[in-house]
Amino acid sequence: MKHFKNYINGDWVEGDLGILSVNNPATGEVLGTVPKVSSAKVRAAVDDAELAFRSWSKETAETRSNYLRRLYDLMLENEEDLGRTITLEQGKPLKEAIGEVRYGASFVLWYSEEAKRISGEMIPSSHKNKRIMVLKQPVGVVAAITPWNFPFAMITRKIAPALAAGCTVIVKPASQTPISAIKIMELVEKAGFPQGVVNLVTGEASSIGKAFLDHKKVKKITFTGSTEVGKELYRGAADTVKRISLELGGHAPFIVFDDAKFPDCIQGALASKFRNCGQACISSNRFYVQRGFHTEFIQGLKAQLKHFHQGNGLTPDIDLGPLIDQNAYDKVSDHVADALSKGAVLEYQGEVPDKKPEGSGGYFYPPTILSGIRRHMKIYREETFGPVIPIIEFEGEEELLTMANDSDYGLAAYVYTQDLSRAIRISEGLEYGIIGLNDGAPSTAQAPFGGFKESGIEREGGHFGIEPFLETKYISIGL
Ligand code: NAP
Repeated sequence: MKHFKNYINGDWVEGDLGILSVNNPATGEVLGTVPKVSSAKVRAAVDDAELAFRSWSKETAETRSNYLRRLYDLMLENEEDLGRTITLEQGKPLKEAIGEVRYGASFVLWYSEEAKRISGEMIPSSHKNKRIMVLKQPVGVVAAITPWNFPFAMITRKIAPALAAGCTVIVKPASQTPISAIKIMELVEKAGFPQGVVNLVTGEASSIGKAFLDHKKVKKITFTGSTEVGKELYRGAADTVKRISLELGGHAPFIVFDDAKFPDCIQGALASKFRNCGQACISSNRFYVQRGFHTEFIQGLKAQLKHFHQGNGLTPDIDLGPLIDQNAYDKVSDHVADALSKGAVLEYQGEVPDKKPEGSGGYFYPPTILSGIRRHMKIYREETFGPVIPIIEFEGEEELLTMANDSDYGLAAYVYTQDLSRAIRISEGLEYGIIGLNDGAPSTAQAPFGGFKESGIEREGGHFGIEPFLETKYISIGL
């Protein structure tokens, strides 16, 4: 068991409020400890980041690009070690964890290139003796708060565009998965970023969050996590009118028309549902299957799920790991029990491997299929965050769109059909920020990722993802 430190202003530092331990969700074993820092330490880290901002923001775009490129290369060189760390503290199978490292690193590569493409505009004036110049400038110190479900990629999606734009950052990772974040800082140090440009603090979330919100030198909060905490930060940001980006919860509909290509729709359903054991914001949470195709769809899923292996993510050929903790396990169990008590049908449930006594790790919830899902069941409205496929039958397009849009969330939706006109009608009608059209895995560094409604504000990825870290300045020039 190792003790890890925080990374502030180019130094590895201890906390001043004790330590937090990090557990392996597959075994319950304690993997290591990290510091708990006080608000005073967080404030000092912000001051350091602000000092670093003064010079980092003045570096050429090419220089910033080169640092990011070095970081990208180091990430790929260390993908095995990074992947192992993710599996140990988060639980996902090793091959998925290495996939997360490659996915996360692809944002560093993309923004190393995008750093060079930040440009302003000259706009024709209506006065002969005036010129209108528009500049893009970095917003300043950014506080990045990230969740446990993608402990590597949710950090790179934020720090890469922020650094490319010329901002400095302080990361506060989830308390369940801080070691992956610390490994990123080790690579930041190796890549030679100047001191204070990238920092990391760990500890009690609400006090660190408040220290960020209260500090005037924090110009932007970028947050990925639950809608509940996102709303709290949104309210808190108002006092100093901080810029804020929110990537929040989701409740994705997965829509299968009776002309869907088979088995592509089955593969898409499995990809969108079982990645990370269903613990993704874009996981499908309601499966709408057109009447007439219902039995075939369920049979197709069952045939595949029979070959799924669940267990410790470090074991070779594992498809499904554990849930993150006891609360997650209880929530999934409660959603299934609630649906069954209200008339749902249990179509399939896998075997639970090696479940340990409550609270001691090994939070393995088996793949489950339920049919006969109705609106008054919890699973229909709340984010389940587990490997459960709840199925609802539908008849026509109009009814389908009303049901699919009946959610406070609006992050991702999936549609499977071979009819082009219908595909376009439904994609346009869905109130979601990301549509997987005959695609169960739409997320990529080049594209905008983010939600409508209570799923968030702003986008990450592509050229869209750098805008939230830039201010627009207008210079009116009199000749
Ligand atoms: P969470 O409880 O909201 O935690 C997310 C982060 O916020 C953690 O670092 C947490 O710290 C911190 N936090 C908690 N309370 C805080 C407060 N009062 N002030 C400041 N920070 C605070 O969410 P989670 O359970 O870790 O993550 C799962 C959620 O994230 C799901 O809803 C999922 O859909 C969403 N998510 C969204 C996206 C997206 O791109 N839209 C991507 C991934 C996940 P501690 O760990 O120390 O409590």
